Amino acid sequence: MLIFLNSSFVPEGDAKVSIFDRGFLYGDGVFETLRAYRGIIFHCNDHIDRLFQSANAIYITLPFTKEYFKEALYRTLQENNLRDAYLRLSVTRGESEPGLDIEGCSHPTVIIIPKAFSGYPEDRYAHGIKAAVVNTRRIPPSVLDPKIKSLNFLNNIMAKIETKDIAASEGIMLNIEGYVAEGTVSNVFIVKDGVIKTPSLSVGILNGVTRSIVIDLARGNNTLVIEQPFYPDELYTADECFITSTIAEVLPVTSIDNKQIGNGQPGEISKQLLKSFRLLTSISI
Ligand code: PLP
Repeated sequence: MLIFLNSSFVPEGDAKVSIFDRGFLYGDGVFETLRAYRGIIFHCNDHIDRLFQSANAIYITLPFTKEYFKEALYRTLQENNLRDAYLRLSVTRGESEPGLDIEGCSHPTVIIIPKAFSGYPEDRYAHGIKAAVVNTRRIPPSVLDPKIKSLNFLNNIMAKIETKDIAASEGIMLNIEGYVAEGTVSNVFIVKDGVIKTPSLSVGILNGVTRSIVIDLARGNNTLVIEQPFYPDELYTADECFITSTIAEVLPVTSIDNKQIGNGQPGEISKQLLKSFRLLTSISI
């Protein structure tokens, strides 16, 4: 695999960053995960916009224009002959002496790692996945805003470790006040009596690209979508639950904390949204 590293393409074995890189020293940087379907990067501009918002929020001045980032992502696909792929775009603050001061850090490191990927196995969509509410709380916006897609992912990693310990596929994190926030790598939705509910951004979550698309799709189908805080008891009594992400698309959740959701099968609204979402990925430019 050829890696994009600061404007050069380098074989993965030779793609190295300095031990003084702040991405390594402090998780000081931002990233995006993108997905290409048949050579087209889905909602590429939205991911690049969010990268710029994240970088801006932590005072990193990105070294390239949005157009250049887009070109670099497409070139990474082409250099690797990939059409259905996952692309991990990371930007660190670059190198500095150990120490927190960001003075003089003017050369961000930019890395794009590609991987062939054409989706999770279909049986996950056919049967739904198990999720669990984890004890690790989502970091509050007053500490580090979850809307910044930062390289500092320990909060989510701790939640993922817990999720694996309880043999679930996705961990649902609550915020400090006990409201449902988001999955370790996904946004969370429930359906009750035909109405879709998802935590509002004010709960302290990532403004998922897939979340926004799915909200628009549902509203376009005349389904009511409410963005508001809710407690975990609403998860257990929901008719349907699903998670969204660039990688997972719209993935039904059929059990939470070993409690069956609805009739234990993916719900009709979840299935319909997955279908509509896949229609978009099949025609997207
Ligand atoms: N929430 C978190 C914490 C994530 O890490 C992700 C994706 O990685 C998402 C939500 C979903 O975001 P998107 O739909 O933009 O992939």
